[in-house]
Amino acid sequence: MQKIDNYNFKGKKVIVRVDFNVPLNKETGEVSDDTRIRGALPTIKKIIEDGGCAILMSHMGKPKNVNPAEGDAKFSLKQIIPAIEKYTKEFGVPTIAFAEDCANADAAASALKPGQILLLQNLRYYAAEEGKPRGIEKDDPKFDEAKKAMKAEQAAFAKKLASYAEVYVNDAFGTAHRKHASTAVIADEFAEDKKMFGFLINKELTAMDGVLAAPKAGFTAIMGGSKVSDKINIITNLLDRVENLIIGGGMAYTFVKAQGGNIGNSLCENDKLDLALDIIAKAKEKNVNLLLPVDALNADKFDKDAATQESAIDQTPDGWMGLDIASKSIANFQKVIESSKTLIWNGPMGVFEFDKFAAGTTAIAKAVAAATEKGAYSLIGGGDSVAAINKNKLADKVSYVSTGGGAMLEYMEGKQLPGIVAIRG
Ligand code: AMP
Repeated sequence: MQKIDNYNFKGKKVIVRVDFNVPLNKETGEVSDDTRIRGALPTIKKIIEDGGCAILMSHMGKPKNVNPAEGDAKFSLKQIIPAIEKYTKEFGVPTIAFAEDCANADAAASALKPGQILLLQNLRYYAAEEGKPRGIEKDDPKFDEAKKAMKAEQAAFAKKLASYAEVYVNDAFGTAHRKHASTAVIADEFAEDKKMFGFLINKELTAMDGVLAAPKAGFTAIMGGSKVSDKINIITNLLDRVENLIIGGGMAYTFVKAQGGNIGNSLCENDKLDLALDIIAKAKEKNVNLLLPVDALNADKFDKDAATQESAIDQTPDGWMGLDIASKSIANFQKVIESSKTLIWNGPMGVFEFDKFAAGTTAIAKAVAAATEKGAYSLIGGGDSVAAINKNKLADKVSYVSTGGGAMLEYMEGKQLPGIVAIRG
């Protein structure tokens, strides 16, 4: 597999799939969080400093039914150009060119000189990027036909994008779990030594592979969030690897109810009770120390100003719902976390968006940071745990914060991600 580190881009036109799906301020239209832009910079800088030119492509948002010839200002990547130039000027590219139509950018691509950058318009103006037929439902008798036609369109779209460049770099980890034209299909158009991952994807893979290969002793997984069903695959995969499995957040209640506890109005997936019992049995069989909360902070309604009271987790009074873990659970979890050597954390311990119910998640974030300071390796992933780490300003106190929520979960579940397989095989 070609590595970016020892590739010389001198004189090469390089098409780079980046993840510029950045949030925008609704009023000013400015980029409100440029983490993803910053994430792509090392790769772009290397191409430019080697003497190559970079053609950047990305999606932004979920545009549907946009006529590519007309565009839609809300989803236009043009509006993020200043947020990119702010950084590219630091390595000698004060202005970047823009192609209004990503599938008709031949002239702009061939005019590009070494040291220049071209940004293509939002790939998802074309349904072919995702390769899913639009405007036709799955139960329509013509769906299969439409799907087949769309696959052909997707291949042609990928070929078109590939025609702009001699080298393909994928650095969009956040979309690596999708088989889209720009993330996977396009790779077929390039020889083995002309396609590679960018620095960001390499960093993500190194972090995740390192954790997956970590010894079982001292390995703790912390799972939280709302649903067992979303996390079941990762939990199952991790049961073979971890010494401790901490389960908090709304999903803990499905386990509590499955064991006969009273959970009041707390979140519960009633169709997953057997699954919860199965996880408990498997943990026992595999000698995994499964930790569930023992107490909770309850609310009389789902509201930031709700009245609160504490109870044992399996004795939630009728009419109340558990929205955070309480002090005994926090202490139990902290003890295990702080003596761990490898940590993976996905999902909050409570409804941390409400200040009243954020203490459990904050305590866990701090415990993970403390363990890291003592030498543990900590990997944080999933939008909400990342938000919790950022809210507590702990991003530089943990080992690695993954940029790809869904992609990270799927990788940790042991799935093959199309964007990764397309390059790594
Ligand atoms: P997920 O996307 O599955 O990681 O879930 C994250 C969401 O779970 C956050 O928005 C939290 O507010 C929510 N959550 C965490 N704990 C609870 C709880 N005890 N009850 C209801 N929602 C919760």
